[in-house]
Amino acid sequence: MARRLTQPGHELCIVTPAYNEEANLERFWSEVSAALAPLGIDYGFLFVDDGSRDGTPQVLASLRARDARVRWIRLARNFGLQSALTAGLAHSDGDATVIMDADLQDDPAALAAMIEQWREGADVVYAVRTSRREHLAKRALFTLFHRLMAAVSEVPVPRDAGTFALYSRRVVDHINALPERNRYLPGLRAWVGFRQVGIGVARRERHAGRPAQSLRRLVSLALDGILSFSKAPLRFASILGVTVTFLSFLGLLIVAYWRFVQRSFPAGVGQATIALALFFLGGVQLLVLGAVGEYLGRVYDEVKRRPNYIASEWCGEPLTDVAQPAFQPAARDDL
Ligand code: UDP
Ligand code: MG
Repeated sequence: MARRLTQPGHELCIVTPAYNEEANLERFWSEVSAALAPLGIDYGFLFVDDGSRDGTPQVLASLRARDARVRWIRLARNFGLQSALTAGLAHSDGDATVIMDADLQDDPAALAAMIEQWREGADVVYAVRTSRREHLAKRALFTLFHRLMAAVSEVPVPRDAGTFALYSRRVVDHINALPERNRYLPGLRAWVGFRQVGIGVARRERHAGRPAQSLRRLVSLALDGILSFSKAPLRFASILGVTVTFLSFLGLLIVAYWRFVQRSFPAGVGQATIALALFFLGGVQLLVLGAVGEYLGRVYDEVKRRPNYIASEWCGEPLTDVAQPAFQPAARDDL
Protein backbone atom coordinates (compact mmCIF):
# COMPACT_ATOMS: atom_id res chain seq x y z
CA MET A 1 0.00 0.00 0.00
CA ALA A 2 2.99 2.30 0.43
CA ARG A 3 3.04 3.14 -3.27
CA ARG A 4 -0.15 5.16 -3.21
CA LEU A 5 1.04 7.33 -0.37
CA THR A 6 3.64 9.32 -2.22
CA GLN A 7 3.52 12.67 -0.52
CA PRO A 8 4.76 13.74 2.88
CA GLY A 9 2.09 14.43 5.48
CA HIS A 10 0.30 17.75 5.51
CA GLU A 11 -0.34 19.96 8.48
CA LEU A 12 -4.04 19.83 7.66
CA CYS A 13 -5.87 17.16 5.72
CA ILE A 14 -9.40 17.90 4.51
CA VAL A 15 -11.28 14.61 4.34
CA THR A 16 -14.38 14.74 2.17
CA PRO A 17 -16.73 11.85 1.43
CA ALA A 18 -18.28 12.20 -2.00
CA TYR A 19 -21.06 10.14 -3.51
CA ASN A 20 -22.30 11.42 -6.88
CA GLU A 21 -21.07 14.95 -6.20
CA GLU A 22 -19.83 15.94 -9.69
CA ALA A 23 -21.75 19.22 -9.55
CA ASN A 24 -20.28 20.27 -6.20
CA LEU A 25 -16.63 19.24 -6.15
CA GLU A 26 -15.20 22.05 -8.28
CA ARG A 27 -16.92 24.69 -6.21
CA PHE A 28 -16.04 22.88 -2.97
CA TRP A 29 -12.37 22.79 -3.91
CA SER A 30 -12.23 26.46 -4.86
CA GLU A 31 -14.16 27.67 -1.80
CA VAL A 32 -12.10 25.62 0.63
CA SER A 33 -8.84 26.60 -1.08
CA ALA A 34 -9.85 30.26 -0.88
CA ALA A 35 -10.72 29.90 2.81
CA LEU A 36 -7.40 28.20 3.63
CA ALA A 37 -5.04 30.31 1.51
CA PRO A 38 -4.85 33.28 3.91
CA LEU A 39 -4.37 31.05 6.97
CA GLY A 40 -0.76 30.12 6.26
CA ILE A 41 -1.29 26.40 6.72
CA ASP A 42 0.08 23.54 4.66
CA TYR A 43 -2.96 21.52 3.60
CA GLY A 44 -4.08 18.70 1.35
CA PHE A 45 -7.41 17.29 0.21
CA LEU A 46 -8.37 13.67 0.60
CA PHE A 47 -11.63 12.82 -1.15
CA VAL A 48 -13.28 9.49 -0.58
CA ASP A 49 -15.21 8.62 -3.72
CA ASP A 50 -17.82 6.31 -2.23
CA GLY A 51 -18.49 4.34 -5.42
CA SER A 52 -20.03 7.28 -7.31
CA ARG A 53 -21.83 6.48 -10.54
CA ASP A 54 -21.62 9.96 -12.04
CA GLY A 55 -18.65 12.02 -13.24
CA THR A 56 -17.10 12.35 -9.76
CA PRO A 57 -13.90 10.43 -10.67
CA GLN A 58 -13.37 12.62 -13.77
CA VAL A 59 -13.88 15.82 -11.80
CA LEU A 60 -11.42 14.59 -9.16
CA ALA A 61 -8.87 13.76 -11.85
CA SER A 62 -9.23 17.19 -13.40
CA LEU A 63 -8.82 18.85 -10.01
CA ARG A 64 -5.68 16.83 -9.36
CA ALA A 65 -4.28 17.85 -12.72
CA ARG A 66 -4.48 21.46 -11.54
CA ASP A 67 -3.70 21.01 -7.86
CA ALA A 68 -1.32 18.34 -6.58
CA ARG A 69 -2.84 18.78 -3.13
CA VAL A 70 -5.92 16.90 -4.33
CA ARG A 71 -5.82 13.17 -3.66
CA TRP A 72 -8.61 10.64 -3.55
CA ILE A 73 -9.34 7.10 -2.70
CA ARG A 74 -12.13 5.28 -4.47
CA LEU A 75 -14.14 2.58 -2.75
CA ALA A 76 -15.09 -0.57 -4.60
CA ARG A 77 -18.81 0.22 -4.29
CA ASN A 78 -21.09 2.56 -2.39
CA PHE A 79 -20.38 1.58 1.20
CA GLY A 80 -22.28 4.46 2.83
CA LEU A 81 -21.19 7.62 4.56
CA GLN A 82 -19.87 6.13 7.81
CA SER A 83 -17.68 3.66 5.93
CA ALA A 84 -16.43 6.43 3.65
CA LEU A 85 -15.50 8.44 6.72
CA THR A 86 -13.72 5.44 8.21
CA ALA A 87 -11.71 5.13 4.99
CA GLY A 88 -10.94 8.85 4.99
CA LEU A 89 -9.73 8.88 8.57
CA ALA A 90 -7.66 5.74 8.03
CA HIS A 91 -5.79 7.44 5.18
CA SER A 92 -5.60 10.98 6.50
CA ASP A 93 -2.01 12.14 6.80
CA GLY A 94 -2.65 15.46 8.53
CA ASP A 95 -1.41 16.66 11.89
CA ALA A 96 -5.01 17.79 11.98
CA THR A 97 -7.91 16.39 9.96
CA VAL A 98 -11.10 18.23 9.09
CA ILE A 99 -14.09 16.25 7.88
CA MET A 100 -16.33 18.23 5.56
CA ASP A 101 -19.24 17.24 3.32
CA ALA A 102 -18.77 17.76 -0.40
CA ASP A 103 -22.07 19.59 -0.87
CA LEU A 104 -20.88 22.81 0.82
CA GLN A 105 -23.37 22.46 3.66
CA ASP A 106 -20.37 22.76 5.98
CA ASP A 107 -19.26 26.38 5.78
CA PRO A 108 -15.55 26.75 4.82
CA ALA A 109 -15.57 30.08 6.69
CA ALA A 110 -15.54 28.05 9.93
CA LEU A 111 -12.12 26.57 9.11
CA ALA A 112 -10.22 29.61 10.42
CA ALA A 113 -11.80 29.35 13.88
CA MET A 114 -11.28 25.58 13.96
CA ILE A 115 -7.59 25.88 13.13
CA GLU A 116 -7.13 28.65 15.67
CA GLN A 117 -8.66 26.52 18.44
CA TRP A 118 -6.50 23.57 17.41
CA ARG A 119 -3.36 25.71 17.51
CA GLU A 120 -4.37 26.76 21.00
CA GLY A 121 -4.39 23.14 22.08
CA ALA A 122 -7.85 21.71 21.33
CA ASP A 123 -7.96 18.10 20.12
CA VAL A 124 -11.44 18.22 18.65
CA VAL A 125 -13.17 21.34 17.38
CA TYR A 126 -16.69 20.42 16.32
CA ALA A 127 -19.27 22.57 14.60
CA VAL A 128 -22.49 23.05 16.50
CA ARG A 129 -25.30 23.85 14.09
CA THR A 130 -26.83 27.16 14.97
CA SER A 131 -29.40 26.81 12.19
CA ARG A 132 -30.44 24.29 9.62
CA ARG A 133 -31.79 24.88 6.17
CA GLU A 134 -33.65 21.67 5.66
CA HIS A 135 -37.34 20.97 5.51
CA LEU A 136 -39.37 20.84 8.69
CA ALA A 137 -39.87 17.07 8.97
CA LYS A 138 -36.14 16.39 8.66
CA ARG A 139 -35.30 19.12 11.16
CA ALA A 140 -37.87 17.72 13.62
CA LEU A 141 -36.36 14.24 13.29
CA PHE A 142 -32.86 15.60 13.90
CA THR A 143 -34.05 17.44 17.02
CA LEU A 144 -35.82 14.32 18.31
CA PHE A 145 -32.72 12.21 17.70
CA HIS A 146 -30.35 14.65 19.42
CA ARG A 147 -32.65 14.93 22.46
CA LEU A 148 -33.01 11.15 22.69
CA MET A 149 -29.29 10.65 22.29
CA ALA A 150 -28.54 13.21 25.01
CA ALA A 151 -31.01 11.47 27.32
CA VAL A 152 -29.84 7.88 26.92
CA SER A 153 -26.22 7.94 25.79
CA GLU A 154 -23.57 6.65 28.18
CA VAL A 155 -21.02 9.23 26.99
CA PRO A 156 -22.23 12.80 26.71
CA VAL A 157 -22.47 13.38 22.95
CA PRO A 158 -22.78 17.11 22.22
CA ARG A 159 -26.14 18.07 20.81
CA ASP A 160 -26.50 19.36 17.25
CA ALA A 161 -22.96 18.41 16.33
CA GLY A 162 -22.47 16.31 13.21
CA THR A 163 -19.36 15.09 11.45
CA PHE A 164 -18.06 18.55 10.51
CA ALA A 165 -15.13 18.90 12.91
CA LEU A 166 -11.39 19.18 13.20
CA TYR A 167 -9.63 16.19 14.75
CA SER A 168 -6.07 16.23 16.11
CA ARG A 169 -3.64 13.53 15.03
CA ARG A 170 -3.97 11.59 18.26
CA VAL A 171 -7.78 11.63 18.14
CA VAL A 172 -7.69 10.32 14.54
CA ASP A 173 -5.24 7.60 15.58
CA HIS A 174 -7.43 6.58 18.51
CA ILE A 175 -10.60 6.52 16.38
CA ASN A 176 -8.76 4.46 13.74
CA ALA A 177 -7.69 2.00 16.40
CA LEU A 178 -11.26 1.37 17.62
CA PRO A 179 -12.22 -2.10 16.45
CA GLU A 180 -15.96 -1.72 16.09
CA ARG A 181 -17.78 -1.90 12.78
CA ASN A 182 -20.89 0.07 13.67
CA ARG A 183 -19.49 3.55 13.54
CA TYR A 184 -21.38 6.59 14.61
CA LEU A 185 -18.58 9.12 14.30
CA PRO A 186 -19.87 11.96 16.50
CA GLY A 187 -20.30 9.35 19.27
CA LEU A 188 -16.86 7.78 18.80
CA ARG A 189 -15.32 11.23 18.76
CA ALA A 190 -17.00 12.15 22.06
CA TRP A 191 -16.00 8.79 23.53
CA VAL A 192 -12.30 9.33 22.80
CA GLY A 193 -12.15 12.45 24.97
CA PHE A 194 -9.21 14.90 25.22
CA ARG A 195 -9.93 18.61 24.87
CA GLN A 196 -13.07 19.10 22.82
CA VAL A 197 -14.44 22.49 21.89
CA GLY A 198 -17.66 23.38 20.07
CA ILE A 199 -18.04 26.40 17.82
CA GLY A 200 -21.32 27.67 16.39
CA VAL A 201 -21.65 27.32 12.62
CA ALA A 202 -24.79 27.83 10.55
CA ARG A 203 -25.49 24.85 8.28
CA ARG A 204 -25.79 25.99 4.71
CA GLU A 205 -28.02 24.73 1.96
CA ARG A 206 -26.83 21.94 -0.30
CA HIS A 207 -25.10 23.59 -3.27
CA ALA A 208 -26.26 21.24 -6.05
CA GLY A 209 -27.94 17.90 -6.37
CA ARG A 210 -30.12 16.02 -3.94
CA PRO A 211 -29.06 14.63 -0.56
CA ALA A 212 -27.36 11.31 -1.17
CA GLN A 213 -28.17 10.15 2.33
CA SER A 214 -31.68 8.74 2.14
CA LEU A 215 -34.08 9.08 5.05
CA ARG A 216 -33.81 5.34 5.61
CA ARG A 217 -30.05 5.67 6.00
CA LEU A 218 -30.40 8.59 8.38
CA VAL A 219 -32.83 6.61 10.53
CA SER A 220 -30.48 3.65 10.52
CA LEU A 221 -27.59 5.95 11.47
CA ALA A 222 -29.69 7.38 14.30
CA LEU A 223 -30.37 3.83 15.53
CA ASP A 224 -26.65 3.03 15.29
CA GLY A 225 -25.92 6.13 17.33
CA ILE A 226 -28.36 5.26 20.07
CA LEU A 227 -27.74 1.52 20.17
CA SER A 228 -23.94 1.74 20.17
CA PHE A 229 -23.85 4.29 22.93
CA SER A 230 -26.69 3.19 25.14
CA LYS A 231 -28.23 0.08 26.65
CA ALA A 232 -31.39 2.03 27.52
CA PRO A 233 -33.65 0.02 25.14
CA LEU A 234 -32.61 -3.21 26.87
CA ARG A 235 -33.23 -1.64 30.25
CA PHE A 236 -36.59 -0.41 28.96
CA ALA A 237 -37.42 -4.01 28.02
CA SER A 238 -36.67 -5.18 31.56
CA ILE A 239 -38.72 -2.37 33.07
CA LEU A 240 -41.59 -3.20 30.72
CA GLY A 241 -41.39 -6.85 31.78
CA VAL A 242 -41.54 -5.94 35.46
CA THR A 243 -44.44 -3.51 34.89
CA VAL A 244 -46.52 -6.00 32.91
CA THR A 245 -45.93 -8.73 35.48
CA PHE A 246 -46.95 -6.39 38.28
CA LEU A 247 -50.10 -5.26 36.46
CA SER A 248 -51.08 -8.86 35.67
CA PHE A 249 -50.71 -9.70 39.34
CA LEU A 250 -52.98 -6.78 40.25
CA GLY A 251 -55.49 -8.04 37.67
CA LEU A 252 -55.33 -11.48 39.26
CA LEU A 253 -56.15 -10.01 42.66
CA ILE A 254 -59.14 -8.15 41.19
CA VAL A 255 -60.45 -11.31 39.52
CA ALA A 256 -60.00 -13.27 42.75
CA TYR A 257 -61.93 -10.56 44.60
CA TRP A 258 -64.86 -10.79 42.16
CA ARG A 259 -64.88 -14.57 42.24
CA PHE A 260 -64.43 -15.34 45.91
CA VAL A 261 -65.64 -12.25 47.80
CA GLN A 262 -68.37 -10.83 45.54
CA ARG A 263 -69.13 -14.33 44.22
CA SER A 264 -70.26 -12.86 40.90
CA PHE A 265 -68.59 -11.86 37.66
CA PRO A 266 -69.95 -9.27 35.21
CA ALA A 267 -71.12 -11.08 32.06
CA GLY A 268 -68.89 -10.86 28.95
CA VAL A 269 -65.92 -9.29 30.73
CA GLY A 270 -64.01 -12.56 30.86
CA GLN A 271 -63.66 -13.09 27.11
CA ALA A 272 -62.75 -9.50 26.34
CA THR A 273 -60.15 -9.53 29.09
CA ILE A 274 -58.56 -12.69 27.80
CA ALA A 275 -58.42 -11.37 24.21
CA LEU A 276 -56.96 -8.04 25.28
CA ALA A 277 -54.40 -9.61 27.58
CA LEU A 278 -53.35 -11.92 24.75
CA PHE A 279 -52.82 -9.10 22.27
CA PHE A 280 -51.16 -6.86 24.81
CA LEU A 281 -48.70 -9.50 25.95
CA GLY A 282 -48.03 -10.51 22.34
CA GLY A 283 -47.22 -6.89 21.51
CA VAL A 284 -44.97 -6.42 24.50
CA GLN A 285 -43.09 -9.62 23.71
CA LEU A 286 -42.53 -8.63 20.08
CA LEU A 287 -41.34 -5.18 21.14
CA VAL A 288 -38.84 -6.60 23.59
CA LEU A 289 -37.74 -9.26 21.14
CA GLY A 290 -37.22 -6.50 18.55
CA ALA A 291 -35.05 -4.48 20.93
CA VAL A 292 -32.95 -7.52 21.77
CA GLY A 293 -32.78 -8.36 18.05
CA GLU A 294 -31.39 -4.91 17.21
CA TYR A 295 -28.50 -5.52 19.57
CA LEU A 296 -28.06 -9.10 18.43
CA GLY A 297 -27.87 -7.93 14.79
CA ARG A 298 -25.13 -5.52 15.73
CA VAL A 299 -23.25 -8.17 17.66
CA TYR A 300 -23.54 -10.36 14.54
CA ASP A 301 -22.06 -7.56 12.42
CA GLU A 302 -19.21 -7.16 14.86
CA VAL A 303 -18.30 -10.83 15.09
CA LYS A 304 -18.16 -11.19 11.31
CA ARG A 305 -15.29 -8.71 11.43
CA ARG A 306 -15.67 -7.74 7.81
CA PRO A 307 -13.78 -4.56 6.98
CA ASN A 308 -15.82 -1.38 6.76
CA TYR A 309 -14.89 -0.80 3.16
CA ILE A 310 -12.76 -2.00 0.28
CA ALA A 311 -10.74 0.56 -1.63
CA SER A 312 -10.28 0.05 -5.35
CA GLU A 313 -8.24 3.04 -6.53
CA TRP A 314 -5.78 5.58 -5.21
CA CYS A 315 -5.79 8.80 -7.28
CA GLY A 316 -7.00 6.87 -10.31
CA GLU A 317 -4.50 4.03 -9.99
CA PRO A 318 -6.03 0.61 -9.33
CA LEU A 319 -5.22 -0.92 -5.97
CA THR A 320 -4.43 -4.58 -6.32
CA ASP A 321 -3.24 -5.23 -2.81
CA VAL A 322 -5.83 -7.25 -0.90
CA ALA A 323 -4.28 -6.50 2.48
CA GLN A 324 -5.86 -3.12 2.99
CA PRO A 325 -5.49 -1.27 6.23
CA ALA A 326 -9.12 -1.71 7.17
CA PHE A 327 -8.78 -1.26 10.89
CA GLN A 328 -5.19 -0.15 11.42
CA PRO A 329 -4.29 3.38 10.49
CA ALA A 330 -1.70 3.51 7.75
CA ALA A 331 1.67 3.82 9.47
CA ARG A 332 2.72 7.45 9.54
CA ASP A 333 6.07 6.71 7.87
CA ASP A 334 4.17 5.45 4.86
CA LEU A 335 2.29 8.65 4.33
N1 UDP B 1 -22.03 10.49 1.06
C1 UDP B 1 -21.20 9.40 0.87
N2 UDP B 1 -21.75 8.16 0.71
C2 UDP B 1 -23.10 7.95 0.77
C3 UDP B 1 -23.93 9.07 0.99
C4 UDP B 1 -23.37 10.32 1.14
O1 UDP B 1 -19.98 9.55 0.82
O2 UDP B 1 -23.52 6.82 0.60
C5 UDP B 1 -21.44 11.84 1.20
C6 UDP B 1 -22.05 12.91 0.31
O3 UDP B 1 -21.41 12.95 -0.94
C7 UDP B 1 -21.81 14.17 1.12
C8 UDP B 1 -21.90 13.68 2.56
O4 UDP B 1 -21.69 12.28 2.52
O5 UDP B 1 -20.53 14.71 0.92
C9 UDP B 1 -23.24 14.00 3.19
O6 UDP B 1 -24.27 13.46 2.40
P1 UDP B 1 -25.67 14.20 2.19
O7 UDP B 1 -25.45 15.62 1.80
O8 UDP B 1 -26.47 13.34 1.31
O9 UDP B 1 -26.26 14.09 3.67
P2 UDP B 1 -27.03 15.20 4.51
O10 UDP B 1 -26.28 16.49 4.34
O11 UDP B 1 -28.40 15.23 3.97
O12 UDP B 1 -26.93 14.66 5.91
MG1 MG C 1 -25.61 17.37 2.68
